[in-house]
Amino acid sequence: MTDELDTTVYYDDDANSEHITDKTVAVLGYGSQGHAHAQNLDESGVDVVVGLREDSASRDAARADGLRVATATEAAAQADVVSMLVPDTVQPTVYEQVEDELDAGDTLQFAHGFNVHYGQIEPPEEVDVTMIAPKSPGHLVRRNYENDEGTPGLLAVYRNASGEAKQEALAYAKALGCTRAGVVETTFREETETDLFGEQAVLCGGVTELIKMGYETLVDAGYSPEMAYFECLNEMKLIVDLMYEGGLSEMWDSVSYTAEYGGLTRGEMIVDESTRENMEQVLEEVQNGEFAREWITENRAGRPAYRQRRLAEKDHEIEEVGEQLRELFAWADDEQTESNATDDPEKATADD
Ligand code: NAD
Ligand code: MG
Repeated sequence: MTDELDTTVYYDDDANSEHITDKTVAVLGYGSQGHAHAQNLDESGVDVVVGLREDSASRDAARADGLRVATATEAAAQADVVSMLVPDTVQPTVYEQVEDELDAGDTLQFAHGFNVHYGQIEPPEEVDVTMIAPKSPGHLVRRNYENDEGTPGLLAVYRNASGEAKQEALAYAKALGCTRAGVVETTFREETETDLFGEQAVLCGGVTELIKMGYETLVDAGYSPEMAYFECLNEMKLIVDLMYEGGLSEMWDSVSYTAEYGGLTRGEMIVDESTRENMEQVLEEVQNGEFAREWITENRAGRPAYRQRRLAEKDHEIEEVGEQLRELFAWADDEQTESNATDDPEKATADD
């Protein structure tokens, strides 16, 4: 364990595999996370059963990977640990199918805290509720396990009815390959709220708006769409890769003096104190549950606003320009294509 930063990081030696290898784990869902959890746990010597609908297209895939398949209800009935790895929007429905199979001493395990934190799933008092959230998409969780590298992850205990919830979660993280890379403890609340804020304000929402506005500003001023695309979207990856490797300093060290001076003096004209106020507003709506209520209502209505936004985003000129340029310059590598893979029918068809 390391103890800097007031953070405890758990590694392989901190986990006792016996807390999970003597149990049966039901992995519900065989998508991004589900296939990786099921296969990694299976290869780590855990008894795994995959829970899927009778008509699920993933049944054949799971069987082909050598795994036992049952319905969610049957899988949960056999299991000591039920790992909820269907999409967050579907979890409350699937939970209803397994609720009666959760006995005292069983564990309900998540990879994201949304449904528990916002009260959409309320497990029985005598059941442990834990989270192991790998900080990577599932195909990397699987690949890193096969490479012996491991994937960093978060651990949280929402309810410790058995007295052994954390030990079991650590053992699960070990079987998944996460303690090879390091596991940090958090809470359902912190994981959920920081995750939602991050994707809304910075990663998915903030970055796309910044890119589009930069692109539009150049094109509206008469510059060519190709140049605007390269400058505002394509080069984003190069800059972010540097920050990922060595923080902001490595990025500043790597760009020219002119870029550094220009960025340091002009950046705060773009993201200013009014942006901070907007970020605080976004965070407040995450904290007080307003965003969650909106999204739950939207899902119950069949996602009309989501569909409309999604189509409008695809219609942006930068998408058309990007598609043509990416074809001319073949730099899209396999990894990007793979991480885009989805078996969500709505996403898959809308992408066509
Ligand atoms: P996913 O969309 O990749 O896969 C979900 C799987 O659930 C599908 O493959 C299918 O087997 C099943 N499924 C889909 N619709 C269903 C329905 N209506 N009824 C029953 N089963 C259905 O999901 P995911 O991205 O692996 O997410 C699972 C959990 O992991 C979520 O809580 C998510 O927040 C969390 N998580 C995801 C990632 C990631 O990078 N994808 C990272 C960390 C945590
Ligand atoms: Mg059970």
